[in-house]
Amino acid sequence: MIDQLYRKAVLTVAERPQVEQLARQKMWNLAERFVAGESIESAIQAVQALERDGIAGNLDLLGEFIDSPAKCTEFADDVIKLIEAAHAAGIKPYVSIKLSSVGQGKDENGEDLGLTNARRIIAKAKEYGGFICLDMEDHTRVDVTLEQFRTLVGEFGAEHVGTVLQSYLYRSLGDRASLDDLRPNIRMVKGAYLEPATVAYPDKADVDQNYRRLVFQHLKAGNYTNVATHDERIIDDVKRFVLAHGIGKDAFEFQMLYGIRRDLQKQLAAEGYRVRVYLPYGRDWYAYFSRRIAETPRNAAFVVQGMLKG
Ligand SMILES: Cc1cc2nc3c(=O)[nH]c(=O)nc-3n(C[C@H](O)[C@H](O)[C@H](O)COP(=O)(O)OP(=O)(O)OC[C@H]3O[C@@H](n4cnc5c(N)ncnc54)[C@H](O)[C@@H]3O)c2cc1C
Repeated sequence: MIDQLYRKAVLTVAERPQVEQLARQKMWNLAERFVAGESIESAIQAVQALERDGIAGNLDLLGEFIDSPAKCTEFADDVIKLIEAAHAAGIKPYVSIKLSSVGQGKDENGEDLGLTNARRIIAKAKEYGGFICLDMEDHTRVDVTLEQFRTLVGEFGAEHVGTVLQSYLYRSLGDRASLDDLRPNIRMVKGAYLEPATVAYPDKADVDQNYRRLVFQHLKAGNYTNVATHDERIIDDVKRFVLAHGIGKDAFEFQMLYGIRRDLQKQLAAEGYRVRVYLPYGRDWYAYFSRRIAETPRNAAFVVQGMLKG
């Protein structure tokens, strides 16, 4: 409950235009801890640095709630450029996209523009043996995202497209089971949006417990599982679970966010686990940065200290 109140307070303040304007001017040097630069080149260099530590990258061009269909298609073109640049730099393209950024919900010639643009992006990634993960956004988009995921797996194969389930939503266990026939590659997260108690567990203990259930059920069903969390207790439980069930280290991976628990990322890689880091980059970093601050008061303290230092 307190976690929810904290998250709500931070996100409500962060959404005010005056706060955003000030933050954009003053906070880039702080945001840099969580965002891998504003350009493709800086993002690719960040992946290469991780790869030197045995850690893979998951690139994410930032951009949310883009308005016009033309801008959505332009955004999809930029993602395709990113895939090409990653391939040219010798990196197997692994990219996350938000379907809202590429036109989900916008009709073009009788088809959803998000689906059309996602097809172009996944086709390009597939050409280079790459992978696209469809990030999960707020609860109003879950139905359409899972429906489009099903369509895209049918067209491109589960080895080239995956999606995300959020353990704070009551519905996610049911959604997981309903996707089993696709043998889907799924990233499990706790969930980063401000959601009402009508759809999401208000208590963190329930979210954590549901997280374990989602991961364990997905692993047990024999599906590739992305354990995307910085929660050490859960990570330890997953290590014990796979050992007890004879599940190999190639059946799952740990995923974390850029700039968060770098020590743990390196430690897990050194222990022989697959580790992948989500690297957001781009000029549109503010909403992403606000969600990271909303996750823990420690990060808010980090921002206040940084601002006081000038
Ligand atoms: C790879 C990846 C992809 C994601 N994709 C999505 C998505 O598509 N949709 C979505 O809704 N959410 C997504 N998220 C965000 C996720 O839902 C959570 O909000 C976020 O991961 C924090 O939850 P946690 O599992 O780390 O656990 P928490 O219980 O929040 O944290 C556990 C511990 O991790 C550390 N920690 C957690 N967050 C931070 C932070 N910001 N800064 C510093 N320390 C921190 C703290 O030590 C904390 O005690 C993603 C997360 C990851 C790692």
